[in-house]
Amino acid sequence: MLWPGDRRFVFTIFDDTDYATLDNVGEVYRFLADLGFRTTKSVWPLRGTQPGNCPGQTCEDPDHLNWLLKLRDQGFEIGYHMSTWHTSERERTIAALALFEKLFGQPPSSMANHSNCGENIYWGAARLSGFAQIAYNLATHFRFASRFRDISKETRFFGEISARRRSDIVATLCSITLTRWRSVRSCHITIRRARMSITGSHHRKGTT
Ligand SMILES: [Zn+2]
Repeated sequence: MLWPGDRRFVFTIFDDTDYATLDNVGEVYRFLADLGFRTTKSVWPLRGTQPGNCPGQTCEDPDHLNWLLKLRDQGFEIGYHMSTWHTSERERTIAALALFEKLFGQPPSSMANHSNCGENIYWGAARLSGFAQIAYNLATHFRFASRFRDISKETRFFGEISARRRSDIVATLCSITLTRWRSVRSCHITIRRARMSITGSHHRKGTT
């Protein structure tokens, strides 16, 4: 893997916007900025319409949005953390990505799945294969076995939308979902698979 400036390694932080409000994370980012870090702040473009997993402020909160824009202007990357804190249908995801682009002037270049969102890409058992997948499903009592098991039939799929905007979104996604079961090499394999899926799955819909 090539890093900017031919560095041998990189260090960065992709935060998790769960529970985040201006009051509880503002000071953290002031600290990071003082230290010279320009890390990634994840966001939810849309406010949730139902209770869900770890709600926090979103881009629909004006004071929060103003703060996010200032972070961006300081050089922090703004990342996508799904449309909101609960599962979103495809149309809502499309709206969230469009809003992100409108607010921040460009599509997200990085994203992270938000725990139990049903539209997560390569989540749950889909991150693994072979024996590791079987072991994972047994250990989790198959609670996450249905995450993206068949892309062509997944109604919440939005990968091809991401691909039109920035395909490297998947690379970030993969690196974030690395677990101790996985290696960097397997991450590369997953990236290739994901890119193949993204570029081919929806075009092949109905034919596979
Ligand atoms: Zn989260």
